[in-house]
Amino acid sequence: MATYEYRCPSHEVLFESHHPIGEAPETAACPTCGGVSRRVISRPYLSQSGSAAFKLIDTTVRSAAEPQVVNSRIPGAPKRVQPYTSNPLHQKLPRP
Ligand SMILES: [Zn+2]
Repeated sequence: MATYEYRCPSHEVLFESHHPIGEAPETAACPTCGGVSRRVISRPYLSQSGSAAFKLIDTTVRSAAEPQVVNSRIPGAPKRVQPYTSNPLHQKLPRP
């Protein structure tokens, strides 16, 4: 089922009606006055959750309550070197 929008010409109200895709009639009865209403083309409702705008808004809202820690190293402390691999054989390789 898909949601289609119709506009009543007598009082310019949009209302929705559910029909199978491709089977929506061109006209429908207005639920308020019963007048013949034509179907209008509207944008499809698509999920916004994956868009860049949604991610930006989500990050902004989250940073207000849970700011990310940018620098976790104590200033002046020696820099800890992370090993690239956990394979013990790589420790035997020659160092530059
Ligand atoms: Zn109406």
